Amino acid sequence: MAAANPYDAWGVSEDNEDTGDYEDVDQSNSSSENTARTFQQARGIFEAEVNCVEEVNLHTDMDSCEKNPGHRGFIPADEFTVNSLPPHYRDNDIAKLIQALAQITARISIKYTSSNRPDFYPGSDKPYPNADMKGKTRLRTGSGWVWRVNIFSGGNNRRNKTKACPCQECKKSRNPERQWAVIDIYTATHMVYDEAEGAKTTCHFFYDNNRNSLAELPSLHGAVRVHNVVDGDACRMTYITHDIQLASKLQNSWREYKTLHTAVGEKYNTTDNDGQAVAENDHKLTIIVSHPHGCSKQISIGEFVQRDEMDYNDAYTKYTYTTPTCPGCSGGPVYVLSRWWWWGCDHPHGGQCEENENLNYSGIAMY
Ligand SMILES: [Zn+2]
Ligand SMILES: [Zn+2]
Repeated sequence: MAAANPYDAWGVSEDNEDTGDYEDVDQSNSSSENTARTFQQARGIFEAEVNCVEEVNLHTDMDSCEKNPGHRGFIPADEFTVNSLPPHYRDNDIAKLIQALAQITARISIKYTSSNRPDFYPGSDKPYPNADMKGKTRLRTGSGWVWRVNIFSGGNNRRNKTKACPCQECKKSRNPERQWAVIDIYTATHMVYDEAEGAKTTCHFFYDNNRNSLAELPSLHGAVRVHNVVDGDACRMTYITHDIQLASKLQNSWREYKTLHTAVGEKYNTTDNDGQAVAENDHKLTIIVSHPHGCSKQISIGEFVQRDEMDYNDAYTKYTYTTPTCPGCSGGPVYVLSRWWWWGCDHPHGGQCEENENLNYSGIAMY
């Protein structure tokens, strides 16, 4: 019998109409019984950063890193240009796509570790990440990115014409906001395990160089909903904000990224008569945007060496790649050039392979 797909309850449609109704919080962690799959996922070193030193320079202050001393494989986000790409891929559209993806990538920080974390990775004898920190308030950092932005402003949605903002603050207020935005952020489950952790999470945007001060940057605080697939290490958090300027900026960058994702996909992938990608054009270029060690945003470039399809559904895949990563990269978006081009990035970075420390791996997601 085929194993159940733990993503069945995930609801990944990009075009879901958002009702803006967050009164019934949907706290769901999907964890299946399929031990073979989870064991594979557990055979790695997860890359949440727990020894984060706030606001230091990755390239001058972090020489002590054991994994990537000197961090030469990381390009500061604001220095990334078309010439940063490998010679075969020096295409302005790819460069602009990565710049747009960088605009929607966030630094994630959490000051709480849920007591609901399991002691062991499901189906394995490997300790679950940060299980030793359960109930503690020690800072942990990682990365994530915007998956969807919906702006509600009194009348742009028939159902919400007369509705007020559904956030906790507005529910208690006599004068609730009539303009608000709902923003979904993707990250890794081992970064944000459940609602208790989501509520203590902050996403900072535009931390693009170490001259920025985190306190002055736009941010989202306290997810109102967390939906996790523990086996796949994929997490979607939902935030409500009154900062319409931030929401509009992120929405514009998200649209630009999606447009370029499709355009670049059409340029680099050809299909046969059945619509299947032609194997010869299976480009391996794999780029990650993240905040290694909680430092300012970096872009790292490599190739994937393996694409594993899940036995419950071959549309669900996991990538193994040479792209450099460090602690703090967990949850950052993994861009693979040859993936199905109409679907945006949805693989979060997961960790470092145990059996080959030169390779890193993603969580499980579609295509
Ligand atoms: Zn490092
Ligand atoms: Zn509100």
